[in-house]
Amino acid sequence: MTDIAIRNVSKIFGGNWKAALAMTKDGADKAEILAKTGCSVGLDDVSLDIAGSRIFVIMGLSGSGKSTLVRHINRLIEPTSGEILVGGSNVLDLRAKDLRDFRNRRVSMVFQNFGLMPHRTVMQNVVYGQRVRGLSKAEANPIGMQWIETVGLAGYENKMPHQLSGGMKQRIVIAMALAADPELIVADEPTTALDVTIQAQIIQIMVEAARARGLALMLITHDMGVVAQAADRVAVLYAGRLVEADRVGPIFGQPRHPYTRDLIACIPREGQAPGTLRGIPGSVPGVFNYPAGCRFHPRCREAQGLCAAEVPPLRQEGPRAVACHFPNGAAHG
Ligand code: SF4
Repeated sequence: MTDIAIRNVSKIFGGNWKAALAMTKDGADKAEILAKTGCSVGLDDVSLDIAGSRIFVIMGLSGSGKSTLVRHINRLIEPTSGEILVGGSNVLDLRAKDLRDFRNRRVSMVFQNFGLMPHRTVMQNVVYGQRVRGLSKAEANPIGMQWIETVGLAGYENKMPHQLSGGMKQRIVIAMALAADPELIVADEPTTALDVTIQAQIIQIMVEAARARGLALMLITHDMGVVAQAADRVAVLYAGRLVEADRVGPIFGQPRHPYTRDLIACIPREGQAPGTLRGIPGSVPGVFNYPAGCRFHPRCREAQGLCAAEVPPLRQEGPRAVACHFPNGAAHG
């Protein structure tokens, strides 16, 4: 099982990043950093340990920094500071050839709008990773066929991508990721663009394959149903910061961050009366508009005076990490 450790990763957008990074370490708030350096902070000192967990879900609404974070894992985005360890390798130390190798052999990425190679058949797309590794067509094609069958598209191996529906293309992208036999698959909202009837099927295929092959699967989603169905462990991001992380059962049973509580309250319950679903007021701030203090405070139903003034540190209590001044409610803060 692959262990992944993301240690103190920050991503600063803008030319004067050294000054901005120094200011984040001195505890300056984002408005001050933007005013003085012209830089914005996309990710702020995010640490995650994914050891011992096969299915890890990062959740949060659009704009929370989920996609920015996972693109650091194979350096599609270079971090401004921090460390990323995948199965013992420090990804940031890899030189060009080793990085290419790492991307081809060890980590497969599945993106929502991942483009298949349009001039290659389904089979040629699926076995691409194996062919890059040096397998002959005769060696690679049976592996490809196994995964094409697993995703339910036997008979389509000689079709071209333009002959497939959106859902079929996404299944082929997943077959491609699995056929490459990686240690880790990172899937960024892999089913969002698809019909709801096949979303669950596709997640199920990925989860079963990951468990059967002992590979790690990192799923990024804002779909709480997917989280409940698939995750071993969950991290919740809000506006570029990690706000809570733990195993899925305790997170759902006893969420301690108000944002996590609100996300869980957004899940429709069986028999719930129409119009009674609670939403989260306001929207996630843009990267140039993060508020001072706790970034969730303008939307938080439990905010107190301290929340607008001071950034809540991420505290580790056993397996739970939570960044809130009042994780037990303001009355118990
Ligand atoms: Fe709400 Fe304050 Fe906790 Fe932020 S620190 S989540 S504003 S209670």
